[in-house]
Amino acid sequence: MIKEADVLKIFEDSNALLNGHFLLSSGLHSDRYLQCALVLQHAGIASRLCGEIAEKFRDDAVDVVVSPAIGGIVVGQEVARALKCRAIFCEKENGKMVLRRGFSVEKGSRAIVVEDVITTGGSIMRVADTVRNEGADVIGYGCIVDRSGEEQDFELKSLLKIHVKTYKPQECPMCAKGVAFRKPGSSAP
Ligand SMILES: [Zn+2]
Repeated sequence: MIKEADVLKIFEDSNALLNGHFLLSSGLHSDRYLQCALVLQHAGIASRLCGEIAEKFRDDAVDVVVSPAIGGIVVGQEVARALKCRAIFCEKENGKMVLRRGFSVEKGSRAIVVEDVITTGGSIMRVADTVRNEGADVIGYGCIVDRSGEEQDFELKSLLKIHVKTYKPQECPMCAKGVAFRKPGSSAP
């Protein structure tokens, strides 16, 4: 089992864990930012990390791995490769998470939902609802980084927990010091 410190080192080595002053897509400010795509671009590392997630579900007879597009797709693919099962993903359409491209789940199939970075758990919950509505049983949730900073009301299996403090703009200590913020690229956590 990979240690949290080793996962953290991988993020640092990929320059995926940035320190500074950031405007998140939520409108909140923070002093740390995770860009998981910079880790996952190294396919061997993606495979290794996702293999570690897969191990946590090794005895669960998983039929299908489901993830939210775009951030979760690579993770879903690699976890499914390790578990030798299918990987499908949900996409936003008119504000709803839906299965497109002919993807489907069979009634009673055993699904896990995976994501790269989980902040609030909102998107994996919407994905879980979507496949449940199709008749699948959602038997677990996994991610590389859990940065929610709090206990979820579901069991989340992660490789690394990071608490990233966020601030409302008017309460942001970096803004108070007049430090300029950066708005990182898409898939902001
Ligand atoms: Zn600020």
